[in-house]
Amino acid sequence: MKKNDILEVRTEEINALGFGVAKVDGMVLFVGQSAPGDVAKVRVIKVAKTYAIGKIEELITPSPMRITPTCPISASCGGCAYSHISYEEEAAAKTESVRAALRKEGLSHISVRELCSPSGKKAYRNKAQMPFAPDGSLGYFAPKSHRVVVPKNGCELLPEVFVRICDTVSSFVREKGISVYDEESGKGLMRHLYLRMGVNTGEVMVCLVINGKEMPHITDLVGRLYTKYPEIRTVILNENTEKTNVILGKKCHTVFGDGIITDTLCGNTYESSPLSFYQINHATAEAIYEKAIELADLSPEDVVADLYCGIGTIGLSVAKKADMSRLVGVEIIPDAVKNAKKNAEINGIKNASFYCGDANDPHIDGCNVIFVDPPRKGLSKELIERIGELGPDKVIYISCGVDTFARDLRLFKELGYETDTVYPYDMFPRTAHVECLACLERQLDD
Ligand code: SAH
Repeated sequence: MKKNDILEVRTEEINALGFGVAKVDGMVLFVGQSAPGDVAKVRVIKVAKTYAIGKIEELITPSPMRITPTCPISASCGGCAYSHISYEEEAAAKTESVRAALRKEGLSHISVRELCSPSGKKAYRNKAQMPFAPDGSLGYFAPKSHRVVVPKNGCELLPEVFVRICDTVSSFVREKGISVYDEESGKGLMRHLYLRMGVNTGEVMVCLVINGKEMPHITDLVGRLYTKYPEIRTVILNENTEKTNVILGKKCHTVFGDGIITDTLCGNTYESSPLSFYQINHATAEAIYEKAIELADLSPEDVVADLYCGIGTIGLSVAKKADMSRLVGVEIIPDAVKNAKKNAEINGIKNASFYCGDANDPHIDGCNVIFVDPPRKGLSKELIERIGELGPDKVIYISCGVDTFARDLRLFKELGYETDTVYPYDMFPRTAHVECLACLERQLDD
């Protein structure tokens, strides 16, 4: 097989990234936007040692699983890996991807529940980060490129008000002739528009990521935004002058409001700042937290750690619902820790303390129930070993990266921490990501 070959293939299955999988002469060919049962002429676009990647040139017989994507740019955007198949098939593929990841780590004895998906499949995101196209419009980068594709009527995963705010900001940038950042030259001002919404309060945060300290006509823009969208609580400029793929810079200047928005989650009120993490799918986050609280089954004497705690949502939700002796949260982003401390105060939770630091450093002495919610790369071997030495009764693991989650479950098992059930959640419907939850319990020696 070589690049640009055109082959007629039949797709057999769909993988965790939403690619159709076909076999050609013993080689695996991953076909973008394909579905099991498709017969298609496929152009080979990349050949690696053990696999190749292809793109449909002509669909000869469509798979019975196919649906017509409702988003007109789904093929060029690539964000919604599953937009071409029904949601039921997507849910089955996601659950299977969790089973496959566990099998790969020798953990096929763990039972995987059906995917839990409490949120809507559209407009479920409470956050958007969109790059500016050279003409000032806002969209998404096409897969593996920095070419911006612009959804004509807005992206359907976003709340309607975000789509309208994007239009207002784009028109303003064009009207005032404000320059757009160019990655090649490092010149131009407007990089990204970053929006966040408190789903239960309706409050919206508008953050403009700029290649500089100031944005011309910002007072006019704030006036225009606030007049049109009274739900906007704060407008912030984020300064990012680095030549980098990282969207946000480290410095924020609030130009309107108080630099935060609030939301309620599992009965608590939370403040968050632009640099702090906040779960993007409110209904699914609540469902995971509630299950995590149930699995932790706390007693009043328990000492609880919340590692990778963000603005404190997991630990403070647990503290709201269950009696415990003490809560310790650890988070590396200073603004998030500031939010977490304030959030404990707002919700009258007095036995919580939050530390700004690396979750890998010792903070967990004396804890007998540990919640971990790391980024996609999972936990370090060192932290797993430290937890193993400390010997808590339970580790409740919330993960957004299924392969590292399965790896870490294997490492915990080697240290005597086991689970018999994994609960997958659809935090990101239509996209290729799955969130998982498991409660690992210390197996006592006979
Ligand atoms: N538990 C929170 C946040 C989860 S996201 C919630 O449910 O909202 C993961 C968090 O880990 C982010 O807030 C990120 O800033 C933080 N983080 C990343 N690396 C870290 C590290 N080495 N030590 C501590 N926190 C870290």
